[in-house]
Amino acid sequence: MAGYSGITAGYLILGDRPCLVETGTATSAPVVRDALASLGVGPGDLATIVVTHIHLDHAGGVGDLAGLYPEAEIVVHEKGARHLADPSRLMASARMVWGDKLDVLFGEMSPTEAARIRALGDTGSVDLGNGRTLSSHYSPGHAKHHVGLIDSGTGDLYVGDAAGVYLPQTGDLRPATPPPDFDLRTALDSIALFEALGPQRLLFSHYGPVDDVQATLERSAEELRVWVDLTRQAHSAGMDLDHAVAMVRDRTRERYAALQADDATAEQFELLSGAPSNVAGILHWLDRAQP
Ligand SMILES: [Zn+2]
Repeated sequence: MAGYSGITAGYLILGDRPCLVETGTATSAPVVRDALASLGVGPGDLATIVVTHIHLDHAGGVGDLAGLYPEAEIVVHEKGARHLADPSRLMASARMVWGDKLDVLFGEMSPTEAARIRALGDTGSVDLGNGRTLSSHYSPGHAKHHVGLIDSGTGDLYVGDAAGVYLPQTGDLRPATPPPDFDLRTALDSIALFEALGPQRLLFSHYGPVDDVQATLERSAEELRVWVDLTRQAHSAGMDLDHAVAMVRDRTRERYAALQADDATAEQFELLSGAPSNVAGILHWLDRAQP
C-alpha cells in the first residue's frame, strides 16, 4: 500500500475452495494476483473473496480482483454490498477526506457485478470445502458494515479493524476509531463477541497474526477507553480538532514503543492508526451521542 509493505494484509485460505480474506487497495491488486499465482492459485481457482468491511485499504481491490478471478463469489456485509457494486459515493466521500493523497494511498475502486456479490446478515458462512467453513459475525463499531470471520478448521479469527491495529515490530496496539461510524458501545460489544467466539489466534488486517488472544482483546478494549476518555476531556474543554489531537497524541505517546523507535516505524504506526482520524471519529461520535 502506497509503496509500503507490511501495512495491510490479505489472507489466502488454501483448501478445496480457496478463499481470499481482504484484497487490500486497488493499487495492490497486481501484488495480490502475483502472490496468489506463486501459491498455485490461478484465475479459475479462487472460490471466494471476502472483505471484513469496505474501507479502501481492505476492499479497494475487490473490483479488480473480481475481474481477475471470474469464478470467485464476492462476500461482504449487507450494509456494504451496494457500495461494491457502485463505488461512486464511497469514492466521492473518500476523496473529500483524503484529497489528492487518495490516488497514492488507495487508487480507485472498480465496480463489481452485482450478481456476483453475496450479502451477509448478522451471521453467515463461507464454504471452504471439505466441511470446513468460515463463519461471519457482524461486528460494528469501527464501521457499520464490519464483520469478523472465524475458520472452523483452525480457530483463526479475522478481526479486520474491529480490535484496532497491531504493529508486529513493537507489539503495540492502538484503536481504529475513524469517522463517521465509530461508536464506543458497539465497538466494545464487538470485542466481547470476538472473545466469546473463543478464537485460537487473531489475524489483524494491520498487521499479521497474534497468538495471545485474551490479553490482546483486553488491550483492544483498554485502548478504546483511553482514547475516548482523553478525547472526551478535550471535547468538554471546548478544544477544536487540532488542539484535541495534539493533547491526545501527547498524553498517549508513552503508551507506544513504536513512537519511541525509529522515524520509519513511528510513521508506519501513524499511517495505520492516525491520531487525527481517531480523534475526529471519537469527536464525531460524541457530538452525535451527546450534542
Ligand atoms: Zn483498515
